[in-house]
Amino acid sequence: MTLLEVTDLTVKFYTEKGVVNAVNDLSFSIERGDTFGVVGESGAGKSVTAHSVMRLIERPGHIESGEILFKGENILEMSEAEIRSIRGNEISMVFQDAQTALNPVYPVGEQIAEMIRHHLDYGKADAKERTIQLLDTVGIPDAPTRYSDYPHEFSGGMQQRAIIAMALSCDPDLLICDEPTTAVDVTTEAKVLAEIESLAAEFDTAVQLITHDLGIVADICDRVMVMYAGRPVEKAPVEELYYDPKHPYTVGLMSSIPRIGDDRDRLQTIPGTMPDLIELPSGCTFHPRCPYAEEACTRTEPALVDPETGTEPTNDAEHIAACLEYTGELNAGLDYEVQVRESTTDERVEAAPESGSVAETELSSTDGDHDD
Ligand code: SF4
Repeated sequence: MTLLEVTDLTVKFYTEKGVVNAVNDLSFSIERGDTFGVVGESGAGKSVTAHSVMRLIERPGHIESGEILFKGENILEMSEAEIRSIRGNEISMVFQDAQTALNPVYPVGEQIAEMIRHHLDYGKADAKERTIQLLDTVGIPDAPTRYSDYPHEFSGGMQQRAIIAMALSCDPDLLICDEPTTAVDVTTEAKVLAEIESLAAEFDTAVQLITHDLGIVADICDRVMVMYAGRPVEKAPVEELYYDPKHPYTVGLMSSIPRIGDDRDRLQTIPGTMPDLIELPSGCTFHPRCPYAEEACTRTEPALVDPETGTEPTNDAEHIAACLEYTGELNAGLDYEVQVRESTTDERVEAAPESGSVAETELSSTDGDHDD
């Protein structure tokens, strides 16, 4: 049985300024032991999706429609008591900001032990022992002593590790990590990601990793979903996404990854910003920023299709994308080419939007007839 199956999820926020279309018709699934990346800029709908799975959407937000099956049971139809018994126990979440996720007036160790006592029915001594083991596992030095430290006595990296320890404390089947390394430096980021990866393997936990950084996804994920303006625009196994990206937004994200030895003066960026989710652009919502947009893109919303056939994907289709190119509705086509080259440290991918402005990126385009 599939561990998590989200089908046609739509979430809106009813604000004074208007209705925010945060997530639209989103479907994806995660199998046991999977590491599933969700990528996109701020406003793409990544965190709202995660909060929906935890059923943590609060007013003015509302889950309008869809189904979220966890081990075959629809989370959206569960009672408050049922969802509380799953949340933190079978599905855990590592939030972006550890500082706000930890209660400042309780020792870190006691907060984790409390979670264990609540969900696993442990006695006080056993919960403390398990907490110390977990703190040790996530790399907190001298865990028995640090058990009684307050959050402000932990560094940012240690706080983030403590949050991961808390999330793993009840051996969840699904660990949702929402930008887990945003608040830490790059050295700590590497350690935290390595810990998530190894702990997930050790506990056979599926991971849904939310990030704006495709580089992080490349390191630890098996499959990736790229989101834009509340919709999935591409889904693929991670290697396929890197070696053969099908959606111009994915290409743009990959072009903006800084690399060791990069000799560009400036990083390539995607022009413009995420659209206003209250008034989404017509047709393909990416068209105001897309270097390949044509008139058809302003009026026709592309469906997720199998890029090879241009047809509705079958259940076992691994790589799908939402661009009119694949349904034969573009005249000029997508004029970029992906190149793979070896570097001294690792294998690197190059693709290049043809405008030439990205020529030095990992994604560089080889043709030159399109203007941004
Ligand atoms: S449908 Fe058009 S605007 Fe959208 S990604 Fe494809 S080319 Fe770009």
